[in-house]
Amino acid sequence: MAELSAGVRATLKSLPSVDDLLKAFPPENYRVTRPQARSAIRATLAEVRRQVRDGADISDAGSMVRAAVRRRMESLAKPELKPVLNGTGVVLHTGLGRAPLSRHVLDRAFCALSGYAGLELDLESGKRGERLDIITDLFKALTLSEGVIVVNNNAAAVLLMLNTAADGKEVVVSRGQQVEIGGSFRMPDVIDKSGAQLVEVGTTNRTHLSDYEKAISRQTGALLFVHTSNYRVEGFTKEVPLTDLAALAKKKKVPLLVDLGSGSLMDQPIVGLASEPGVTSVLKTGADLVSFSGDKLLGGPQAGIVVGRKRWLKRLHKNPLYRALRCDKVTLALLEQTLRTYVDAETWTPENLVLELLNRDREELRSQAEELLGRLSPEAHRGGTIKVVESTVEAGSGSLPLVPIPSIALAISRPNTSPDELALRFRQATNPVVGYVRRGQYYIDLKAVPLEKNYLLARTLAEVLAPAPERNSQIDQ
Ligand SMILES: *Cc1c(COP(=O)(O)O)cnc(C)c1O
Repeated sequence: MAELSAGVRATLKSLPSVDDLLKAFPPENYRVTRPQARSAIRATLAEVRRQVRDGADISDAGSMVRAAVRRRMESLAKPELKPVLNGTGVVLHTGLGRAPLSRHVLDRAFCALSGYAGLELDLESGKRGERLDIITDLFKALTLSEGVIVVNNNAAAVLLMLNTAADGKEVVVSRGQQVEIGGSFRMPDVIDKSGAQLVEVGTTNRTHLSDYEKAISRQTGALLFVHTSNYRVEGFTKEVPLTDLAALAKKKKVPLLVDLGSGSLMDQPIVGLASEPGVTSVLKTGADLVSFSGDKLLGGPQAGIVVGRKRWLKRLHKNPLYRALRCDKVTLALLEQTLRTYVDAETWTPENLVLELLNRDREELRSQAEELLGRLSPEAHRGGTIKVVESTVEAGSGSLPLVPIPSIALAISRPNTSPDELALRFRQATNPVVGYVRRGQYYIDLKAVPLEKNYLLARTLAEVLAPAPERNSQIDQ
């Protein structure tokens, strides 16, 4: 390493110490912990020392360090997980937390959770209860199931079903249903991890009942039917109807497991949109166990739900894997409140935000757009152009796939600002908005923006579009 010049050495020596800086920036003033502050200070000092050694022309290294430490401490204190307005139009957006929860559901759940909660204690008898009791009757009433098991997510639910029914045995699946869901959920890998051995039947586009029949032997632990939620094989295709498969399973005395992905508690939740198979209608076919996600069309917290026959649910519950995969009181409280948003087989309350957002038609969204534009100041209108346009979106997370859902979007432009730069500005605004760029145009779709968030969206539009005040380039540098 080259000798350091006397000037560089003097500058390095003049830098404040970690302890000096801790005194100057007391962690408690910034609502950060002492170890956080210490490591932020160390990192800042290291960065400045490197710049000094590299010969950067720094006139007052001390104040530079102090300014940098202050910035770091301030940004450390800001919450990392913050609310975002979803302008992508995708209601079940995995990157934005999938199912949005309504204030009502959150408030009720968190009221139940403040302090202790009667999670596993029967308050009447004083005896130890079971945590799933909280939601069992609700699921029984809503799905005609004989019980329910809830685990961390649907991937865990599938793993638990397969491990319970077919560990060390074979599981028979159609080649047309070897799905991969985003985020590394691949059916053959999950089957492998469950300890079961995959037996593929049929072809990619066609599978017959006789294919299953021939594959069933003494080694068979289960038949698995996977709802191909995120794609569709079109053209010359055939899958065996669930009723036929269930009859075969019964005859051969093997359980039929169904991974429904985005199960809906209602047979046709949204009028005019494609229907996902409903949980109850799948149970009626005679399937033994049916699993689905809590945070897809159900509209609740991340969870994997298994319903079906009591005999099999009991076995899942006894499996030691269940103990590892079960979910906590936070999930169960949110799930309970989500289930209470279902009125009957056709109706839900507005507190089910997912169904509410998906249900809004173009007319409703157009008036939301008008209300929004009415909130904007003339200044914001002058700063950019906002056009209300018709758009189509998807539900997301593999629900209602391949069915474009009509929506309304704002097409936004701003002089001297590229669409990508505009997208960045909206993401970095005080209330971040995530929109999308298509064919050189930036859009914010209204499908996933609840009406009561209009004021926030208006505020952000004003912040991003209002013409920047004249800048003093000298100070700016
Ligand atoms: C989404 C999905 C899964 C995974 O569910 P998670 O709740 O994300 O774990 C599994 N199978 C199917 C068919 C799905 O659609």
